[in-house]
Amino acid sequence: MFIFFKATLMKPKLLLCTDLDRTVIPNGDADETPGSLALFRLLVSHPDITLVYVSGRDQHLLKEAIAHYELPSPNYAIGDVGTTIYAIDTDGNWQPWPDWHTEIAPNWNGKTREELHALLADVAPLRLQEVEKQNTFKLSYYLPIDADKDNLLSTIEQRMKKSGIRASVIWSVDEQANTVLLDILPANATKLHGILFLAQNLGFETDEIVFAGDSGNDLPVVTSEIASILVKNAHPDVIAQAHREAEKFHTQDKLYIAQGDVLSLNGNYSAGVIEGVLHYFPKLKSWLTRET
Ligand SMILES: [Mg+2]
Repeated sequence: MFIFFKATLMKPKLLLCTDLDRTVIPNGDADETPGSLALFRLLVSHPDITLVYVSGRDQHLLKEAIAHYELPSPNYAIGDVGTTIYAIDTDGNWQPWPDWHTEIAPNWNGKTREELHALLADVAPLRLQEVEKQNTFKLSYYLPIDADKDNLLSTIEQRMKKSGIRASVIWSVDEQANTVLLDILPANATKLHGILFLAQNLGFETDEIVFAGDSGNDLPVVTSEIASILVKNAHPDVIAQAHREAEKFHTQDKLYIAQGDVLSLNGNYSAGVIEGVLHYFPKLKSWLTRET
């Protein structure tokens, strides 16, 4: 019994958390290395890897992407920019992680999404996103690409504070749609907190987590103490900001920018995720080369 217990403790394991759009999903302008998604599927089939998708997408859009791009089914999904967590069983059933909403609800001080919106109704040029992109703990707006970021963020944050609401306000640029996406969430309903909450509940240490992303809303994780990857197709501004913040937080050794020089992969999308995982866990290379 003791030997079994020890062997379990010694087993290398990895909680691989990855953003989807323009990180694993090749839906940006950059080229995808042919076959890289197949190699990603092989990588995550490793028995010691637990796969988590971390995305702005809701459950419906997550499932749609997985089916459309033939992505491997994850073990867990953190959706709606961190406001929902699901466990996915081997039959593909999605179950909401029960304690997550209990954890994040108090941050909004008992207020609903509609009540938060009412506090911001006169703030131009906020435009509500479609109803299917909102949820219990996610209030989302569109903004023009040239909106005054500093001014707007400070206005929104002041209004929230005044009503006793602890909110995080996430600003992301959607280059494809040429628009800004602004999400208002409970302050602790972040991708970062979601990942750490899940890891803690599943028994993973921080050094057993790797995260991959490409955009502004990934940066709090990318520049945290979690080993992280920015795929090569990340916008140069995002890469520059990641370097600055990692320097500030002394997490430079936990930031890897895919270069496109491993296994004939170009570093974009899933190729960058694979490259970064091999950077942190080089022993996994034999798993990929053995079977290809
Ligand atoms: Mg992305």
